[in-house]
Amino acid sequence: MDDSYCETPGGGPGPGSAPARPPVPDEPFAECVLCREPTEYPESVKGVTLCPVCEWQEAQRTACSG
Ligand SMILES: [Zn+2]
Repeated sequence: MDDSYCETPGGGPGPGSAPARPPVPDEPFAECVLCREPTEYPESVKGVTLCPVCEWQEAQRTACSG
């Protein structure tokens, strides 16, 4: 019984050490073209950017079209 620290050396994926290169730098997120909510994409992304909600709704629409 020695669980004073939740640290497992060489164990699973833990946020112990900071990643050398974060996937998204300190960059403003692009706005959703539909609801103007911030998306998961940086502003440098070209084309239409949708927030997760609108992205999901678009997927549903296209899936149900026909
Ligand atoms: Zn949206």
